[in-house]
Amino acid sequence: MTGKPDPFSVPFGTILCDWMTTARANDGPYVYRGSPEPYGDLTISPAAHVLHYGSAIFEGLKAHRQADGSLAVFRLDSHVERMATSAALLRLPRIDPDTLRRMVIDAVEANSEEVPDPPGSLYIRPTLVGTDPDIGAAARPTRSALLYVVNSPVGDYFKGGVRPLTLLLETSIPRTVPQFGMVKCGANYAMALGVTLDSMAANEAIDQVLFATGDDITETGAANFFLADDERVITRRLDESFLHGVTRASVIELAQHLGYEVEERTIDPDELIDWAERGEAFLSGTAAVLAPVGTIIRDGMTLTVGDGQPGPNTMRLRQALVDIQVGAAPDPFNWRTPVRG
Ligand SMILES: *Cc1c(COP(=O)(O)O)cnc(C)c1O
Repeated sequence: MTGKPDPFSVPFGTILCDWMTTARANDGPYVYRGSPEPYGDLTISPAAHVLHYGSAIFEGLKAHRQADGSLAVFRLDSHVERMATSAALLRLPRIDPDTLRRMVIDAVEANSEEVPDPPGSLYIRPTLVGTDPDIGAAARPTRSALLYVVNSPVGDYFKGGVRPLTLLLETSIPRTVPQFGMVKCGANYAMALGVTLDSMAANEAIDQVLFATGDDITETGAANFFLADDERVITRRLDESFLHGVTRASVIELAQHLGYEVEERTIDPDELIDWAERGEAFLSGTAAVLAPVGTIIRDGMTLTVGDGQPGPNTMRLRQALVDIQVGAAPDPFNWRTPVRG
């Protein structure tokens, strides 16, 4: 790890760890050799299914250094399960959860020396791509595939750490197509890139685009959306149209545990006007953790949420979540998987 930059001083995800795990499927189960290998380039055919027909999915989860120096992966099973679902929805070869679990744990253990202390963490990126060398397979699923896990030591996702974000409400252009919203696939990001870049170019204060096609607020480009006040936590009811965040599910469980009433339902943009007067808004995601929203721009009008600063309920939920992640609090939900540090 010598010679690598400090994760807090470079953009999220730009430092890659020395070790990775890989497994290939060839018309059968993924074959994992059972140990990590040095991080390096991968070989696939120029005709590989993924390069032509977009058969690419991924996950994003984190390992955190615990107070006692050991490491724990946060919600490993939920991420493995979601990746298996994404693979099935894109008709990629079936993922065996035990194999992927092992690949994640082996990679993290091999890279343990590179895990920064909190508030830093190790970002874990399992990836799966279709490798059939067949440019005629436009309407056929790939039968061979490459599954791999790479790691990246990370600091804060948003430049400047925890600070109130500015969101642009986008009501006409969708982030992705409705039936693919819940699939964690590269194509969704490709589709959202243009609208996100155009919005940011028009106003450099904008951190993220909040998608609300048909006046139905779902999520931003890579995080779920919440409203909160002293009594309640509100987020969009699950359906196929948006990504089912593991952080979202964690916030819901934690909020209930802390005595909040949780509402999963549709959120209309008009409700924001009302909410901004007295409540809070935040984003949730593995990379962003819980990120307070200070400003929402809608049809050129600027709406300040609360006093524009991080709200107390947002920060309370964020702290409760982080405390479990880093082992500063008990783990009543069994969210931590210990790995050798
Ligand atoms: C990954 C992702 C999220 C957040 O999911 P987490 O499991 O909480 O990290 C939200 N939206 C999109 C589009 C995503 O890809």
